Amino acid sequence: MDLPFGNELPELDVLIVGAGLSGLTSALKILNKVDTLNVKIIEESPVPGGQLCSEGKRFVKQDQSELMAFLNQQNVTVDEAKEYDKIESLSRCWQLDRGLTSAPAKLELWRYINMLDNRMKKFDSRYKYRKRIPTMESHICKNLFFNLSRKFMYNLVTLASGVSAKDINFDEFMCLCSASGGVTLLVELFNCSYLTMPKSVQSLSCRTLLDTLLEKLNQNEIQCDVKAIKVEHFKNYVQVTDSTGQKHIAQAVILAIPCDKVNALQFEPQLPKNFRTVARGKEEKPKGQITEFFLSYDNSHWIDQGYSGQFLNVDPLVVGHESNSLEYSGYMLHTNGQADNVRDTVLDMLAAQFGDEMLNPVDYKQLTCELSSALHKPQVKPWNRIIWSSSASAATSNRNLMGGAVESGLRAAINALFIIRPQVVGWQDLSDVHERKNHSRDSPNYFLSLISRLNLYNVTFYSVFVVGLICLLGYGYNHSA
Ligand SMILES: Cc1cc2nc3c(=O)[nH]c(=O)nc-3n(C[C@H](O)[C@H](O)[C@H](O)COP(=O)(O)OP(=O)(O)OC[C@H]3O[C@@H](n4cnc5c(N)ncnc54)[C@H](O)[C@@H]3O)c2cc1C
Repeated sequence: MDLPFGNELPELDVLIVGAGLSGLTSALKILNKVDTLNVKIIEESPVPGGQLCSEGKRFVKQDQSELMAFLNQQNVTVDEAKEYDKIESLSRCWQLDRGLTSAPAKLELWRYINMLDNRMKKFDSRYKYRKRIPTMESHICKNLFFNLSRKFMYNLVTLASGVSAKDINFDEFMCLCSASGGVTLLVELFNCSYLTMPKSVQSLSCRTLLDTLLEKLNQNEIQCDVKAIKVEHFKNYVQVTDSTGQKHIAQAVILAIPCDKVNALQFEPQLPKNFRTVARGKEEKPKGQITEFFLSYDNSHWIDQGYSGQFLNVDPLVVGHESNSLEYSGYMLHTNGQADNVRDTVLDMLAAQFGDEMLNPVDYKQLTCELSSALHKPQVKPWNRIIWSSSASAATSNRNLMGGAVESGLRAAINALFIIRPQVVGWQDLSDVHERKNHSRDSPNYFLSLISRLNLYNVTFYSVFVVGLICLLGYGYNHSA
């Protein structure tokens, strides 16, 4: 596509849209390379940070190598996950552990997740969606019998894809999971492992990370309360118009925002067809939101009651855990406009489990953000001067996690430098940000993959069939004798 030459002189070298972890990482990487460059970040919220809100903790895995190296470089300490060993002896409060159906529901959930992981190998980046494929909702209903396990899977689909299970089909979900490292990994990292709390995770304080990043960036470089609306691409620069009508002209633009937000921007000329998202249904659907809550108490009431503090309610999804002996945090999944009810819902649920003392926290804070939707094929560089990043655009097992935000932020920074100052980009930089491979998956064991296909429906069908056949043969034998 031929782009027009513009008549303006770019005042900025790089404009970054979005001051989440990905945008901040890009800015730091660019300025670390050439500190004289004119870099600006615009952010639609009143404060920077995005999903990395300033309270609470985030869990990280040691194998997120880029994130770990980045944290090390920034001198951000990562806490060991020792506290989980300590609290493991105490009981957890999970809806999945309660009731008569708990054991069979967990068993069929384990079997279903294994089945999805076993089939994942063929859903690689070259996979083409088939026609007339069931939605994830109907696939879950056909394979899972218990309400508890079905609801758990609906929540997982929403958390991983940003849309509800009826708006994404089986192929789309499998491709997305394949690019994100598999379903088991997603379950672990969403912090709601259905069997045990993962032991290998470490944690870090959001405030420490955010403060460290902001300290290293000049505050003038971040302009908050400014939303990008329109992106015009010229051959020699990009012009971004914000909600106040101000125009930002830069040699390169990094869109460090999730895919659904990218698609909400007006592009001129229009985005090439292969970079536009497929519309999922015409009518406007209520958007999924996630609210993170932070509570502090004068005592660990959950420990007094003999609980570890690990809490999981499936419908609605509320996940909670002890941050330290006096602090409690977690998140709740809900639809747009329900954020005001989160406090009461969460406190009532916690009080029902850990005692009425939970109703009176010393302090309560919450932060709501929209669920970011991810796509099967990550979107990287649709046009010469426009680069997309954000954790939802990473094509590795770190997608939708902090690791993905750092990984995509570093890649976007190198791409931007390659456009405006190619002479400072070395081979080492390029090899640092080369396309990462997804998890290499071993071929599934034949027996395991056979077992994983069994569910209550087909087991009942085959049992009735075999018993019927035996009765019929017995009847025939008796009559012929
Ligand atoms: C409750 C919760 C718990 C989590 N727990 C973990 C965890 O334990 N471990 C882990 O690794 N990850 C976790 N994550 C995920 C991790 O926090 C995110 O993946 C990461 O912070 C995303 O960073 P980002 O920069 O890609 O996107 P975002 O943080 O979403 O940043 C995008 C920014 O762009 C801004 N923006 C959007 N559109 C525009 C526009 N048009 N103009 C201007 N600005 C715009 C937004 O306001 C936002 O600030 C969690 C996320 C949540 C919500």
